[in-house]
Amino acid sequence: MPLYRDEAVVLRTHKLGEADRIITLLTRQHGRVRAVARGVRRTTSRFGSRLEPFTHVDLQLADGRNLDTITQAETLTPFASGLGADYERYTAGTVMLETAERLVTEEKDPATQHFLLLVGGLRAMMAGDKGPGQVLDSYLLRSLSVAGYAPSFDHCARCGVEGPHRWFNPSMGGMLCSTCRLPGSAGPAAATVELLGALLAGDWPVVAQADQRTRKEASGLVAAYLAWHVERGLRSLAYVER
Ligand SMILES: [Zn+2]
Repeated sequence: MPLYRDEAVVLRTHKLGEADRIITLLTRQHGRVRAVARGVRRTTSRFGSRLEPFTHVDLQLADGRNLDTITQAETLTPFASGLGADYERYTAGTVMLETAERLVTEEKDPATQHFLLLVGGLRAMMAGDKGPGQVLDSYLLRSLSVAGYAPSFDHCARCGVEGPHRWFNPSMGGMLCSTCRLPGSAGPAAATVELLGALLAGDWPVVAQADQRTRKEASGLVAAYLAWHVERGLRSLAYVER
């Protein structure tokens, strides 16, 4: 079987047979890959805990007809141990892993931007100098954009006229002007709309100035936007305190 190397973040694992696991990975060069790790559930496994969710690993894989097989794994960044002690950061990180798996739908279809966003987001989550909710919201808006669902927070999402606008509607792709406003649109505070734009742009000095109420309102709108575009809400999002 031909071998290949790649780096990856472990998104999810599930049991296979007596001692094996199927590992779902987001790789740098091969997009989403599902691969078998043989004997990984034995205490004597040569993989140790390197193939647990969150771990950023350097891998060698053998190309298989159905699933590839992991033949070597070295830890690059142990995100799980960096996040494990902080419930809020850990649960926010879980939403990031689940979102990445949902948004990268094709196996072996390169998704390097998604990979880089996830590694960058997990790194920011682990560093701890930014609020976990804001790191998560910024990651969600940016990964939705990469997936083709870029929200508009300045121009009207429907007619394109320049804002700022008052009305938010996830199904229309963001803010709407008064002419395009649809029934059921939310009317967030101006500061919230400004924060959403900053989260999307990664403008952290602006994000840092937002108060608790503004952050909370923005998180609610990000969750609504994500739920609309990822069909049903993410299971893990229910555990994040907002
Ligand atoms: Zn409009």
